[in-house]
Amino acid sequence: MNFEEHAGKSVLARAGVSVPQGRLCASAQEAEAAARAIGPVVVKAQVPTGKRGKSGGVKLAATPEEAAASAQAILGMEIGGFPVARVLVEEQAAIAREFYAAVLNDPASRSPLVLFSTEGGMDIEEVAATRPESLRRMAVDIRKGFGPADARRLLLGLDLGEAAVPVAAMLVDLYRVYRQHDAELLEINPLALLADGRVVPLDCKLTVDDAALYRQEDIAELGAKEPLSALEERGRALDLKYIELEGNVGVLANGAGLTMTTMDVVSHAGGRPSNFLEIGGEAYTKGTEALDLVLSNPGVKSLVVNFCGAFARTDVMAGGVIQAWKTLNPTIPVYFSIHGTGEDEAVRMVREELGIEPYDRMEDAISAAVEAAR
Ligand code: GDP
Ligand code: MN
Repeated sequence: MNFEEHAGKSVLARAGVSVPQGRLCASAQEAEAAARAIGPVVVKAQVPTGKRGKSGGVKLAATPEEAAASAQAILGMEIGGFPVARVLVEEQAAIAREFYAAVLNDPASRSPLVLFSTEGGMDIEEVAATRPESLRRMAVDIRKGFGPADARRLLLGLDLGEAAVPVAAMLVDLYRVYRQHDAELLEINPLALLADGRVVPLDCKLTVDDAALYRQEDIAELGAKEPLSALEERGRALDLKYIELEGNVGVLANGAGLTMTTMDVVSHAGGRPSNFLEIGGEAYTKGTEALDLVLSNPGVKSLVVNFCGAFARTDVMAGGVIQAWKTLNPTIPVYFSIHGTGEDEAVRMVREELGIEPYDRMEDAISAAVEAAR
């Protein structure tokens, strides 16, 4: 789930991190009223993408009339493909310096990574390329967390002067918010040092792990879910974890692990899967719905059914697929690999009822499916 700037800042504020005073506005009149209450403001487009500054989506306004005019101009814009429907009208900050700070999931170290740079306001990729000495990173052991001593160590040697203390405190706060809200990314660019010595987030980008939303209910209403495709909506309604992909080999396997393995082997054999679908656990009796979903993807040209039984019985799962196959009567070829609990019975059923011989080896079933989809 993605949070636009205003939503991310609300999350920060709720967690006790002070952010500039601001109001979300949908019209020039609202922006004018907000500026009348706040004073000199900055009017900022609210779209789920960065680089608003460079696109003219961030404007300073000294008076309410100017704020109205800026809002009028920005509300008509399209930034990164997103039409601007709302602006954040925020108290103007007297910026002395701009820094960059972020906490993110780092696949390389398989841990949270705290990033800080004295070069704020520009793309971090650009900073990494042109001013690498200004960029500091620290992988965090989540069991130990990230405290003031870690922050001081990260910042050691950077020319921050008096700002080192509030910056360190801010990094500790950002790590806390990132952890508390199951974030994948919390990025503050710029993190501003104000003329009066305070350090405040002027921008905020927050992404929260969708799988954790059930325990992030208090902030979930602030964010925007990644849109699901029609098929994915159908999967969700059936309580099946379905992800639509662009390939042409349909995948029906039990359990997320075996499904991912099957997808990997499809890729390894030179093909591309047309879906992820998990029918493990309690869902293993939903064969018909699951098959229907996989076959509804317009790209699918062949199907691989890969079952591995333990608690879930392969004869029950195969029974569901056979029943579904007879009901739906699809024209694409299907390749089975069945192993584990109930295997003999499942193989016999597929052979007798569908007239198809399951493969002994998963790799062979998958290669055949990839070949057939070419
Ligand atoms: P982005 O371009 O989408 O990342 O939008 P930002 O929120 O980062 O804003 C872009 C730039 O606008 C910042 O780097 C600042 O230089 C400037 N800016 C944002 N808020 C203020 C403010 O309150 N006062 C001043 N003077 N500049 C601001
Ligand atoms: Mn920014």
